[in-house]
Amino acid sequence: MLTERPGVFSGHPKEECGVFGVFGHPEAATLTHYALLTLQHRGQESAGIAVAGEREILHHKGMGLVGEVFGERVLKELSGRAAIGHVRYSTTGSSLAVNAQPLVFRHRLGALALGHNGNLVNAHLLRNRLEAEGSIFQTSLDTEVLAHLVARSKEPTLEKALTEALQQIQGGYAFVLLTERSLLGLRDPYGIRPLALGRLKGAYLLASESCAFDSLGGRFIREIEPGEMVVIDGAGIRSFQALPVAGRALCLFEFIYFARPDSLLNGLSVHSVRKELGRILAQEAPAAADLVIGVPDSSLSAAAGYAEELDLPYEIGLVKNRYVGRTFIQPNEKLRNLAVRLKLNALRKVVEGQRVVLVDDSIVRGTTSRHIIRLLRQAGAKKIHLRISSAPYRFPCYYGIDTSVISELIASQKSVEDIRAEVGADSLAYPSLEGMLRAAGGRERGYCLSCFTGTYHVPVPDGAGKLVLEEK
Ligand code: SF4
Repeated sequence: MLTERPGVFSGHPKEECGVFGVFGHPEAATLTHYALLTLQHRGQESAGIAVAGEREILHHKGMGLVGEVFGERVLKELSGRAAIGHVRYSTTGSSLAVNAQPLVFRHRLGALALGHNGNLVNAHLLRNRLEAEGSIFQTSLDTEVLAHLVARSKEPTLEKALTEALQQIQGGYAFVLLTERSLLGLRDPYGIRPLALGRLKGAYLLASESCAFDSLGGRFIREIEPGEMVVIDGAGIRSFQALPVAGRALCLFEFIYFARPDSLLNGLSVHSVRKELGRILAQEAPAAADLVIGVPDSSLSAAAGYAEELDLPYEIGLVKNRYVGRTFIQPNEKLRNLAVRLKLNALRKVVEGQRVVLVDDSIVRGTTSRHIIRLLRQAGAKKIHLRISSAPYRFPCYYGIDTSVISELIASQKSVEDIRAEVGADSLAYPSLEGMLRAAGGRERGYCLSCFTGTYHVPVPDGAGKLVLEEK
């Protein structure tokens, strides 16, 4: 049966994955557990931790939320001073226990654990070749391709074997890797997926987002550069350019939706960028209204910016139930409506008789916007002006976000006016691409815009897609 975590009714692109690593702390597994709780928004299907024990790499992983997979007893058994952790939403490979990460394997240079955020666009081609040459795969993860390439390399050190493997893979990725003696972090040559370096007293930390450092009482040092590999071991930290920088193309959607507002990306606060997006949207598409509300949680910063810019009251008009766990995809419209109501409710006291600006961060299929607008109308809203804080999402993402079917993207099929009519809003507007870039510090900072423009930095081979490794 297909199952989904909260998010299925959010109408957003699905989250990707979160990775974390720590080196040089006596409670490495516990720290990783806390960090994964902080990164839980990046993936809710499975969680895993691998620890460099005295003689081997120990690991535990399973399906579910971090709090469901890890308890005190398991964490006690994962004793060691270095660890990596992973939370997953499947972008390649099914949501199955065998696909939970970190992947742990042994090769000629020792044991290695791998945690991956992103998507390797040529994984299916590499896997075809490796299988033809005799490799046996245990998962349908693109990540396993990297493991095979490393294991088959004749290079004398792990760093060289990894570099050789990286030269063969293409896509958007951030990896954390653990050996019995070291922690490694690396990022794709465009820096599409984020990875940051931090410190906690004497320990080094790596994380998809800097909010994980804050939650541990650590501090953010810097972002890992595109194509950079860092190696942290008993001698300290070394860094080198494993692959030449191909450009700068951080996923703009990290700012719009994926990242937590308390994280820093590309040197900017996610909350501030979202607020600026709201301001620019208000300049470009003002609405005659009595108040502004946002869809919780990811659109609240943009809604606050929109309200501030037009000097309108900013209100809480929708209440989210944070305690709804796993919900199943519902087979009919009536049950889907009920499931949305379980997660979101409109505050009648606030919206009744009012002209409301509703700010959301994106429209993917349009179903959720329609449900939310219906909720607000039932609660008595007089007018609903829908304002989206990102440009129309018109093309699939192949770099680690799960929206790979163009026919499901409403903005690739319909005009703005048709979308407005379909979701039932009184007006609908998006910001311009230039406005979005301005909010994120300018084009020169380097962003991936492929899902807005259809221009892909890393060429996407035929056949790339979420389940390609299972459909072979
Ligand atoms: S295509 Fe869109 S969602 Fe995918 S990495 Fe680029 S900006 Fe992010």
